Amino acid sequence: MADVAVPTNTTILDNFIGGRWVKAQTTEFFDVHNPAIGEVIGRTPLSTTADVDAAVLAATHAFPAWRDSPVNARAQVLYRLKAQLEQHFDEMARIVTTEHGKTIDEARGSVRRGIECVEVACGAPSLMQGSGLEDIAQGIDCHVVRQPLGVCAAIAPFNFPAMVPMWFLPFAIVTGNTFVLKPSEQVPFSMRRAMELLQEAGLPPGVVNLVNGGREVVDAICDHPGIRAVSFVGSTPVARHVYQRATHAGKRVQALGGAKNFVVVMPDADFDRSISVITESFYGCAGERCLAGSMLVPVGAAHREARERLVESARGLKVGDGTQPGVTMGPVISARHRERVVGYIAKGETEGAKLLVDGRQTRVPDRPNGFFVGPTVFDDVSGRMTIGHEEIFGPVASIAPVKTLDEAIALMRSHPNANATSIFTSSGKAAREFAKHATASMVGVNIGVAAPMAYFPFGGAKDSFFGDLKVHGRDAFEFYTDKKVTISRWF
Ligand code: NAD
Repeated sequence: MADVAVPTNTTILDNFIGGRWVKAQTTEFFDVHNPAIGEVIGRTPLSTTADVDAAVLAATHAFPAWRDSPVNARAQVLYRLKAQLEQHFDEMARIVTTEHGKTIDEARGSVRRGIECVEVACGAPSLMQGSGLEDIAQGIDCHVVRQPLGVCAAIAPFNFPAMVPMWFLPFAIVTGNTFVLKPSEQVPFSMRRAMELLQEAGLPPGVVNLVNGGREVVDAICDHPGIRAVSFVGSTPVARHVYQRATHAGKRVQALGGAKNFVVVMPDADFDRSISVITESFYGCAGERCLAGSMLVPVGAAHREARERLVESARGLKVGDGTQPGVTMGPVISARHRERVVGYIAKGETEGAKLLVDGRQTRVPDRPNGFFVGPTVFDDVSGRMTIGHEEIFGPVASIAPVKTLDEAIALMRSHPNANATSIFTSSGKAAREFAKHATASMVGVNIGVAAPMAYFPFGGAKDSFFGDLKVHGRDAFEFYTDKKVTISRWF
């Protein structure tokens, strides 16, 4: 099996509109890198408003026939998509690793999570049902049906190229909507392959369209009068921008933003069984997860053991090309992002945090041009320091010791982001107190990455989420449908 799934010669990507691959109407491109090797593997067109118009037109034309096809027929397309994804599971995972850098095991996990969304969406014949009641007055009945909205769009971040788009795509189309997707310009290959698999699954042309690009495409999606709903996942400033701009244009919007996740360790934690999941929380996917631990908050006597164990396991990680056996942490996404993470490490030192493990020293001899930064541990970090406050989105753990659980909760609550948080303890009382008062809406108890499965709602609170209906689960059926009430009397 080849190491590199995407050809190493530079591929110029196209848009997928109306069931065909078409050239973007632009002369500007973004260079896509294999982050482990540092080489350009593709060029993403920075499409224009005209490209978005073409995609929305195709989706608008496809809508009447698609919404008229029975829900079970729409679900059949998703069953076939699932079969395609299973058949090409390893290929998809290798594409993810090649364009993103995460290890092949992490990539497999993310593709699996994407497939689970397809599986849950297949339940539409049950989950899309409305309700009804006869004789609300004499001889008068009332019933509620859920109807699709029309053309819906989603805008994705770089960190889960195959999974995040699947939080939206299967739910949007199974409910009868048509769809426009904008993947991250940094990782366009996974969704390119997904479009081919959708075609293989027999999806009619125009039901799903893909427009590659960056800011101009995002703004065109927010403004386009033909788009009824927008889903966004990315950093907080852009999430806020998309939420404000698209709601201003009258659309239904869910916008998931950035994170600063607090992992609290109580003195009564089971360290032997917890340390591997804590390590995975901070360093899995090189810290480029919206659910990644960022601040480790040991309470009282937990400080020394938590620090020593984390340092030991951080040093034990094998950094390298995620396609290679034995590698447990890959590179970060780009040279620019590496500089950003390295900048945070320098700032942590300057602001007085104690640097215990310095990821800037990490070298990967057989991949000298990869965008590597090793696991990093700081101790004695305070919430006022830059590294204690800003989202780093890299493999940097900041230990912020506190005296009591109340102090730990107060520290977490003081942060404007509230995506995920975890507590490690053997006390039910402490866990209950923590879960009750956590501002984050995804809470782990002795779980390092509190990622809800596809049949539960996913999304944070405060500056980590703008909107009301969350991602996947039943919320997806709410988000992608409107409820129509018919009150009838027959003479
Ligand atoms: P990003 O905000 O830079 O980009 C996200 C999307 O917005 C991309 O498609 C990009 O092309 C577009 N974009 C970027 N800048 C823009 C601008 N100025 N105007 C309009 N569009 C713009 O995010 P990213 O770096 O791709 O992803 C990492 C971020 O995503 C982190 O902050 C992470 O926490 C967050 N994230 C959150 C969740 C969640 O569930 N809350 C999940 C995954 C990632």
